[in-house]
Amino acid sequence: MLDLVANKTHDEQRQGETYAPFSVDPNEYKKKFYIESYGCAMNFADSEVVASILNKEGFGATRNVEEANLIFINTCSIREKAEQTVRKRLTEFRKLKTRNPGTLVGVLGCMAERLKSKFLEEEKLVDIVVGPDAYRSLPRLVDEAADGHRSIDVLLSREETYADIAPVRLNTNGVSAFVSIMRGCNNMCSFCVVPFTRGRERSRDAVSIINECRDLFENGYREVTLLGQNVDSYYYNPESNSTEHAVTFGQLLEKVALISPLLRVRFSTSHPKDITSDVLHTMAAHENICKCIHLPVQSGSTRVLQLMNRTYTREWYMSKVDEIRSIIPDCSLTSDMIAGFCTETEEEHQETLSIMDYTKYDYSYMFFYSERPGTLAQRRYKDDIPLDVKNGGCRRSSKNKMSYHASTLHRIWAKPLKY
Ligand code: SAM
Ligand code: SF4
Repeated sequence: MLDLVANKTHDEQRQGETYAPFSVDPNEYKKKFYIESYGCAMNFADSEVVASILNKEGFGATRNVEEANLIFINTCSIREKAEQTVRKRLTEFRKLKTRNPGTLVGVLGCMAERLKSKFLEEEKLVDIVVGPDAYRSLPRLVDEAADGHRSIDVLLSREETYADIAPVRLNTNGVSAFVSIMRGCNNMCSFCVVPFTRGRERSRDAVSIINECRDLFENGYREVTLLGQNVDSYYYNPESNSTEHAVTFGQLLEKVALISPLLRVRFSTSHPKDITSDVLHTMAAHENICKCIHLPVQSGSTRVLQLMNRTYTREWYMSKVDEIRSIIPDCSLTSDMIAGFCTETEEEHQETLSIMDYTKYDYSYMFFYSERPGTLAQRRYKDDIPLDVKNGGCRRSSKNKMSYHASTLHRIWAKPLKY
């Protein structure tokens, strides 16, 4: 039920999900790939791009890891626990590889990017390591690995958006789909590894996005979620010498909404510093743009926000909430919070709880701070809050969040979908 209000960019229930073979595929495949995905929605969308590339190479998807010639794990580095989960899965694949010696194992995504060739040294069973911007190299890497050479490509790109690759919707319900509109992030929040694992921000060609959304609609889909680490800074300019045809996020959102009033449009994630009143007015003007914004606050304390390099204050965030409520009175707001960031005090944690009371989120993801190697916070600040205190903070935040579920459910039932 909560799926209807939250964009679920990091959906716990989907962690480790494997892709089933698609139902309407006339081809017969001699070779099979198995792919298991972790992390945020961007990773799940990337697995669909990978599937498309492998498909063209004659690999069909399987959910049965035992019959796969290629096993891929699309990884997340955002917290230490996510990496531990992947390591554990790899030990299970090791047993399988002993039973089926020709099977190749590949690590994709953020953990591949973060650890690079160290992965090949540390995890002896891994044959292929591919970063998020290098999936086009997969056919070559698979060939090399099949010839007995362990292969790696972790080059980050300033241009790659996979705009021309039609993702294969492998696990689809035929109704909702994620559409990537940009890649990377330039924000450098001090706790976050994403700018290092996914590289510089770049926006995908607007025409390819609109075409993909239109194709989805014509194939029966009724909901698209436009995805990016920071969708509000989307900016696509096809001409270098003029801005005449440049497209902002507000304009893109409107173009997608205009495909059909029967297509529901969502987006995620918004950085509070970047969401514009133009986007809010576009949302208000189109009934089929879902009145839901994922607006991660991370902390309710201005001092902690400053340490996090979030570039807004508590008051600024609250005034953004006020602006949203004034333009879209029934807008649902969801969030991410981090408990126990470096030097956070109990009073500062209470400020996070109070901002929850102020905003009345419909849903929120609660994380305890996990120090990530190479980030600004790891280099500059001491991770000085004991784990049980961080965890306790997380639980208290969750408790606060739960109090809103009842009203959320009420709101959904009170406003049934029109189609
Ligand atoms: N780009 C989005 C944004 O700015 O909100 C989300 C990026 S990240 C994939 C999702 C969430 O993970 C973040 O909003 C943050 O709350 C959490 N996160 C990121 N790094 C973390 C860390 N080192 N420890 C705990 N939580 C973290
Ligand atoms: Fe990470 Fe901040 Fe970028 Fe989100 S905006 S991906 S939290 S650096």
